[in-house]
Amino acid sequence: GGAASHAGRCVFYAPEMDEQVREYQMLDNELHGALERGEMALHFQPIVHLDSGEVIGMEALLRWHNRRFGPVAPDRFIPIAEHSGLIRTLGDWVLDTACAQVVRWRERGWRKLAMSVNLSVRQLLAPGFDERVREIVMTHRLDPDDMPLVLEVTETAVIEDMEAVSAALDRLKRLGIAVHLDDFGTGYASLSYLQQLPVDALKIDKSFVQSLESDPVAENLVRSVIVLAQGLELALVAEGVETPGQRDKLMELGCDVGQGYLFARPQPVDAVDHVLADSLSSVQSGRAERY
Ligand code: C2E
Ligand code: MG
Ligand code: MG
Ligand code: MG
Repeated sequence: GGAASHAGRCVFYAPEMDEQVREYQMLDNELHGALERGEMALHFQPIVHLDSGEVIGMEALLRWHNRRFGPVAPDRFIPIAEHSGLIRTLGDWVLDTACAQVVRWRERGWRKLAMSVNLSVRQLLAPGFDERVREIVMTHRLDPDDMPLVLEVTETAVIEDMEAVSAALDRLKRLGIAVHLDDFGTGYASLSYLQQLPVDALKIDKSFVQSLESDPVAENLVRSVIVLAQGLELALVAEGVETPGQRDKLMELGCDVGQGYLFARPQPVDAVDHVLADSLSSVQSGRAERY
């Protein structure tokens, strides 16, 4: 792009920037009303024991199919929803829908199944958030002593505002909800921060998992994260497990739980049912424990 002077200011033009701004505004417009038009859906991805493939939880992942743009990836629309504040409405819907679903699955026999829901820090820090979570928990009669709900917050978001986030997470934990630190390894959380944070598990970012077989440095990083989790007595979940080689390496390093295309892609409720059916007997026999 070239440069032009406006009232003494120097403004740089890049045609692709205009394009991006226009696209952002169109998506922002379309996001308002997306729920009402029924364009939002949840997909679910199983979280499994790496050795047996036994399903112990599900992660709810938001999907948007827009009337004009078709499918829009969460990495594109979540930041827009965070910026406009719409994430609170969307997030409430996700929580409510995910809780309703895990209750349905538990009633149908998958009694120990957990449900992980992603949370934006913007949601977490909104006034009254813990009150709304309390309402949702009560509406769906989730048992604090056998709480299926797990909330995932990304490491990068957490370290931006440690004190406020820590306090907000503490309030959620009082409801019996577990907190998992998502995309771990990408955000440089210091050891002392980690020790203060009321979290129950680290989710090893998929970028490390995917370099496991090719990059010895990635292996060392994963090993360090596993040692760190063990030292802090945190559980571990590996994301983005795509190959048997990655699964075996993770188990060898001491990580027992994971999710990824090797086991199942995120899918709509109906498609997930058959994955669960295969896992029913082991879950009912009580082998699956909290992770
Ligand atoms: P995340 O929470 O880290 O979710 C994991 C992402 O990795 C998902 O992408 C999932 O589809 C993808 N994935 C799972 N297994 C594999 C694998 O084996 N290989 C590869 N390459 N990818 C795999 P997705 O669904 O596009 O979501 C992207 C991000 O958007 C999520 O990352 C999460 O941060 C955010 N997100 C999704 N749903 C919600 C939501 O309801 N609320 C909020 N606040 N954020 C959400
Ligand atoms: Mg997640
Ligand atoms: Mg992640
Ligand atoms: Mg992510």
